[in-house]
Amino acid sequence: MRKSILILTIFTIFLFTACARPKKVQASDAEQSSVESSVPQSAQKPAPLDPKIEKLNRVLMSMTDRCKEAIPNGDPNEFLADLERVLQVEKAFPSDDLSLYYLIDKTHKVGADYEPKHLRKLVANDDYIINKTTLSLREDAADALAEMGRAAQKDGITLDVSSTYRSYETQERTFNYWVSVDGLVEAERESARPGTSQHQLGAAVDFGNIEDSYALTDDCKWLNQHSQEYGWSLSFPQGYEDITGYRWECWHFRYIGIEACKFQKKWFGDIQQFMFEFIDAWKNIE
Ligand SMILES: [Zn+2]
Repeated sequence: MRKSILILTIFTIFLFTACARPKKVQASDAEQSSVESSVPQSAQKPAPLDPKIEKLNRVLMSMTDRCKEAIPNGDPNEFLADLERVLQVEKAFPSDDLSLYYLIDKTHKVGADYEPKHLRKLVANDDYIINKTTLSLREDAADALAEMGRAAQKDGITLDVSSTYRSYETQERTFNYWVSVDGLVEAERESARPGTSQHQLGAAVDFGNIEDSYALTDDCKWLNQHSQEYGWSLSFPQGYEDITGYRWECWHFRYIGIEACKFQKKWFGDIQQFMFEFIDAWKNIE
């Protein structure tokens, strides 16, 4: 069933309410009556709307219908306060690299020469298993992975890490491999073209066997329950291929930070793609 009333509707109502609010007049009653009698009603300007609410309306208008439908009914000021918190956190990210919120998908790319500024090689450790010796992540993502691994172990789960950062060239080889195995149409559904992969950002991890059967494991169930507590978000959920561009990948998680995970869950139907499209639009629409 479609979610009830869109937040957009609420904002529109707010807009109308604000416009209909009587103008505050500073003058005395006597002065006011003379002002009112000398100024035609039509010439009186409505009270200005909060610029952030106005901007929110504009940004929401630019979003896809499906994204608007995912946004629950709520208080726009609460939404803006949550957004502000998420954007404040972003200021603490390394300033010499792309943001952890960077929108990358089939139409938003990075160049062939992009690689994260602070990559850390993953080595054998007590927090999780590495399935290859060639793995690396951004430092902030590597720290968050270790923290999540330790938390999982307390619950009797040992996460195994199968794929992490991929350079443009590696992604090119990976994509071409899947095209040779499955054909172009199928490959496009689960492998990114070079320059469009979250793996090139150095903040995405594929866990386990990288197959649908991973969803049945205790490890994957634990991730689905707890990953967001450590800032990791499932990128390609089931039933959203038309939104994300990729079929369900129960094994692929992106590190975006704890506040962004909360924001995604509270306001965007827990769909990472909707949230990053919104943040991108918020930054690019005046
Ligand atoms: Zn992946």
